[in-house]
Amino acid sequence: MPELPEVEGVVNSLKPVATGKTINEVKVSSVITHAHSQGRQAIVKGSSLQQFCSDLAGAKIEQVVRRSKYIYFHLIKNNEQKLLVTHLGMTGAWFYVQHTEDVTEEKFRKHIHVQFQLDDDMILVYADIRRFGEMRLLDMESQFPPLLLMAPEPFEEIALNHFLQMSLLPKYQQKSIKETIMDGQVISGCGNIYATEALFRMKIHPGRTVKRISEKRKVQLFKEIVDVLNESISAGGSSISDYRNINGEAGNMQDRLQMYGKKICPTCQQPVKQRVLGGRNSWYCSTCQR
Ligand SMILES: [Zn+2]
Repeated sequence: MPELPEVEGVVNSLKPVATGKTINEVKVSSVITHAHSQGRQAIVKGSSLQQFCSDLAGAKIEQVVRRSKYIYFHLIKNNEQKLLVTHLGMTGAWFYVQHTEDVTEEKFRKHIHVQFQLDDDMILVYADIRRFGEMRLLDMESQFPPLLLMAPEPFEEIALNHFLQMSLLPKYQQKSIKETIMDGQVISGCGNIYATEALFRMKIHPGRTVKRISEKRKVQLFKEIVDVLNESISAGGSSISDYRNINGEAGNMQDRLQMYGKKICPTCQQPVKQRVLGGRNSWYCSTCQR
């Protein structure tokens, strides 16, 4: 699943090609059309396909920004602001091509689900192999309240205090630290890969309950998470599974990971342990992490 650094890579590659362009026409795949006809809101959420396509046609893309793991397209149509909120789900990817055949990797080309025909004769293509991605057209963010519950961006100054305060709430005190830092209401954009790495670097066992971690350690852990995220952004993200940026490129952060998906601890050479926490596989070293 793409995490914050991967989404940042997608947004950075979308910005120069999408900003200032007008969406002339929107096309959706027959798979999505069929799902909607059966009452399943595949990919396009919160509105009918007809409404979605007609509302987007003629809209100009003013800005593309990342918010946590979401990509926000700020649009303007007939002097009215619109917000297209999109999420890559497990396997979503955007491409900027002249023809859909120009999406070079077959696994994406076979799963093109939404196409924005732009006014520069290019197409902004959304492909999604497993179809867990989302697109939601809003007038403003507050129209979809879950967005307002997201923790501040981890790079903002208020994010550390937000994390510390949230971690004191009764519902998090008994929880494992790993589940807590992966909760988007506590910290924005820290998914399984980077939670695993930050906990390993801090020598904290992922199953340790929040209440058994001192404030000083929590502050250090938060800084470690920010460092890992920044490091990965610089490396272009981790290309585990199906992450691609808009140019079809994958990052190389996966080569720097020390614990995620590993079999042997790089510090003590003991076998790495695995445990499921909050439905996600956790890798850790029971010797180094306490
Ligand atoms: Zn170890």
